[in-house]
Amino acid sequence: MDPVCLKEGLLALQSGALVVMPTETVYGLAADATNPQAIAALYAAKGRPASNPLIVHVADQASAQRWGGFSETAHKLADAFWPGPLTLVLPMTAEAKAHIAPAVTAGHDTLALRVPHHPLTLQALRALPFPLAAPSANLSNQLSPTRVSHLHHQLLTHVAHIWDGGPCIQGIESTIVQIIGNNWAVLRHGIFTEEALTAFLKTPPLSATATAPGQSLRHYAPHHPMILNSTKVGPEDALLAFGPHVPAGAMITKNLSLRGNLHETAARLFDALHTLDQWPCHRIVVMPIPESGVGLAINERLKKGAMTRGHESAMA
Ligand code: AMP
Ligand code: MG
Repeated sequence: MDPVCLKEGLLALQSGALVVMPTETVYGLAADATNPQAIAALYAAKGRPASNPLIVHVADQASAQRWGGFSETAHKLADAFWPGPLTLVLPMTAEAKAHIAPAVTAGHDTLALRVPHHPLTLQALRALPFPLAAPSANLSNQLSPTRVSHLHHQLLTHVAHIWDGGPCIQGIESTIVQIIGNNWAVLRHGIFTEEALTAFLKTPPLSATATAPGQSLRHYAPHHPMILNSTKVGPEDALLAFGPHVPAGAMITKNLSLRGNLHETAARLFDALHTLDQWPCHRIVVMPIPESGVGLAINERLKKGAMTRGHESAMA
């Protein structure tokens, strides 16, 4: 990247300001994880509830070990999948307890850590003397941005600098895995599926008792109401299509993947929703997407996006 642009962002972060950074999943709103004022500004900019902890981004596994206690299972996962869309929730080290701003973990004694797979952001992380807390760069509960053009003007008033890294390649948020000793549990579905992780670790996850803190029911939501698993459209509907057999008659149609590929679907999901949400339609109709593989992660986001307003406050 342009060295002047890189430097400006680094200086902003060092002064406690907020910077938008690209990752392979979605764009992040980054702040110095060791600076309580910067973290307070980050929560305020997003309107994020204080009960929803932040993922901390580091340059490599060696840096992650300063902040999180790694078991053998944690090492195996980090060796295999970092840099990449996998977040590990680990016990905090003494150094983390002393230096990470308490609001980052929302009072938990665990810390969520990830090494993102984006050359620009890795360059920034290597240059900084502190790790970056970075939730998605959207107002709380709204659609995640996968391009700079998706950033909301209200959020941008709080941002000192933007690093434009082009469209995000994976397009949905990281898989979150909690590590308890050598046991593991998926807290949020993502590109790395529970099936794939089970095959890799050769041991199944803990039975699904683990719940992720701060995950409200309504999330990833467009402004228009969203109807899932439907192929019935009228002229006032925007259609989010999947696969080759697309019903006619919608005001606008965006096909996530003509060939029915789930990775392509994940990569295009938020961009397509941002586009459809601009149209003067009455609702967004979403065709069925298979509930298997990455489809689980895609459907998890669509279901939360389709929740009617009101449920989220019940969860707050
Ligand atoms: P995001 O909204 O993409 O920034 O992801 C943050 C999510 O990571 C939170 O909503 C939590 O579910 C999870 N998370 C972050 N930190 C922790 C933690 N210390 N313990 C458990 N889960 C965490
Ligand atoms: Mg988010």
